[in-house]
Amino acid sequence: MLIEIKDLRKTYAMGDNLVKALQGVSLKIGAGEFVAIMGPSGSGKSTLMHVLGLLDTPDSGSYKLLGEEVSKLSENKLAELRRSTIGFVFQQFNLLTRTSALENVALPLIYGHSSARAADPRQLLEQVGLGSRLDHKPNELSGGQQQRVAIARSLVHNPHILFADEPTGNLDSKSQGEIMHIFKTLNEQGITIVLVTHEVEIAEYAKRVIKMRDGAVVSDIEKPSNKSVSRSIAVPENHALRGSAGPDKFSFRDSLSEFFQHFKQAWRSLAANKVRTGLSMLGILIGVGSVIAMLALGTGAKESLEKQLSSMGSNLLAVRPGSSRSGGVALQSGDVTRFTMEDARQMRSDIPNVVRTSPSVSGRGQIVFGNKNWNTQVQGTSPDYAPMRASVPDLGRFFSETENTQRSRVAVVGRTIVREVFNGKSPIGEMIKINKVNFQVIGVLPEKGANTFRDQDDLVIVPVETAMKRLFGKEYVDNIDVEVVDQQSMESVQEQIKQLVIRSHRLPPSQQDSFQIRNMADIQSALSETSKTMTWLLGSIAFVSLMVGGIGIMNIMLVSVTERTREIGLRKAVGATQNDILSQFLIEAVVVSVAGGVCGIVLGCGISFVLSSVAGWTTAVSAQSVLVSVLFSLAVGVGFGLWPARKAAALHPIDALRYE
Ligand code: ADP
Repeated sequence: MLIEIKDLRKTYAMGDNLVKALQGVSLKIGAGEFVAIMGPSGSGKSTLMHVLGLLDTPDSGSYKLLGEEVSKLSENKLAELRRSTIGFVFQQFNLLTRTSALENVALPLIYGHSSARAADPRQLLEQVGLGSRLDHKPNELSGGQQQRVAIARSLVHNPHILFADEPTGNLDSKSQGEIMHIFKTLNEQGITIVLVTHEVEIAEYAKRVIKMRDGAVVSDIEKPSNKSVSRSIAVPENHALRGSAGPDKFSFRDSLSEFFQHFKQAWRSLAANKVRTGLSMLGILIGVGSVIAMLALGTGAKESLEKQLSSMGSNLLAVRPGSSRSGGVALQSGDVTRFTMEDARQMRSDIPNVVRTSPSVSGRGQIVFGNKNWNTQVQGTSPDYAPMRASVPDLGRFFSETENTQRSRVAVVGRTIVREVFNGKSPIGEMIKINKVNFQVIGVLPEKGANTFRDQDDLVIVPVETAMKRLFGKEYVDNIDVEVVDQQSMESVQEQIKQLVIRSHRLPPSQQDSFQIRNMADIQSALSETSKTMTWLLGSIAFVSLMVGGIGIMNIMLVSVTERTREIGLRKAVGATQNDILSQFLIEAVVVSVAGGVCGIVLGCGISFVLSSVAGWTTAVSAQSVLVSVLFSLAVGVGFGLWPARKAAALHPIDALRYE
């Protein structure tokens, strides 16, 4: 027996009222039958059909389909039966809007990889007389034509049984005739047909008429003339149940093509709501864009810092007047130990492990060359400055010790000066005025780039003796840089310098902190700590914006699930499993977030390009940050898409189909 039901009961709770839709229905339907279920409205016909079509579950009673008890089957098994054994035709057609007739018919083929028995959708449409309407969308078809598309769809997996719930209820009488003719032909081809109708003319087509009232069968009449025909058809082999009772054989190719199908479906529904898709992408786009841009800024800052640190030279100590403990508070002149050129010489000659020393003074200077006027920083140093601070000129030369002691008026200029004062031309040999004193340019400093505070190339270096005596009128140097032979000796040298200064300046204990010795390595590590903190800070801001973007996607997905509840119901009715629905919605979320992510990467690169070319900041987009962004947006898609997708997947087919 194809269908065998015993004592089926179903009760709906309507507020306080209990509506007994089915009150103990028992029936048997054999293969090849053509059954019409009739009865007044509210008699339980549709409820019975939904139970038979595996769209709904009864409260109690037994339903055996092809000899198997349905209530014992798993959700996936039920989906497979809906797909392969059963075809369902609804009164409202339930076609996907904005989707062509052909694609509507092919919809069930997306689900289920056992397509061996599948029919050709094109042929089916031709069979129902719509061969010339393949590309028409439902809104371009009449009611009768839409129902024919729906019938073709129900036939695509070559089902054994066709359930039709008032299939002609919404149609005019001409279409009614055409539809019924199709059913009759199908039945003659061996398909069992069970249809609900309340019209006597429709029931005329059937070979057996079951009448219901108040949830129970009141009469069951078989037309004698057809009896022999119906009995002559053999029960179909129940391979749908037995054939794949074990776990599904699932090859990689199948899953790939299934993924592609889901992707296509997801893409289609995203494309159907372009504005909404765009808006939900925007969140991720901005998030990823800011991640990229901020990380680029952070990395750029770090790189320029590193460059700067290396240009500072290594193993350097800086000796300066003033207390390290007094912070920004100015000390009285008596409390400050001032240094002379002699101090620098002494440090070099008296302390082992000191390689070089470079005393320096600095101040502002007005440069005049031709009609150009430029205010810049002027630094007086000794010749040792060049190798110590990575400042060996790449054009021309640095000044010599002789030039220093002779207070020669020679200058080495930075790149910015070359650009601004000399229009980019080589300045070697040119005469310039610095604070009204004539100098000859003898070299150009290597480019160091700008840091956060100032342009390091906006600088003129002159011999320290010249600067002190001819330019600034200073007797003391501002600081002394000391290069130590290696990192290990830094601390001992620092201590020795301290003792030397105390000795040579005869400092009493109360004034022993009237000067400070700073270790560049400390400064370097402090600076790189700062840049790390900055990167973290920027990164976390970007992270928050990504989260916000993700929540945006979740929001839209939830709306989309609610809005497409009926569509989900239909997909389940034609055989989609929970996993199918889950995949489809998940893919949608991931496509949105990854597409947003990719656009965000472009945006982020754009922003950092603009920042570096317009604002002059150093930025560096790292491959790492791009990879992290892609992975992150993927994770956001999966993370925030999962809940809506699960919500969609968990919907019960009939509840989803009834959703208004
Ligand atoms: P028919 O198809 O014969 O018109 P139905 O099977 O649709 O009858 O309905 C049988 C009874 O169950 C009706 O009284 C109807 O109001 C009730 N009913 C059907 N579906 C629901 C539902 N989802 N919730 C509450 N009551 C329902």
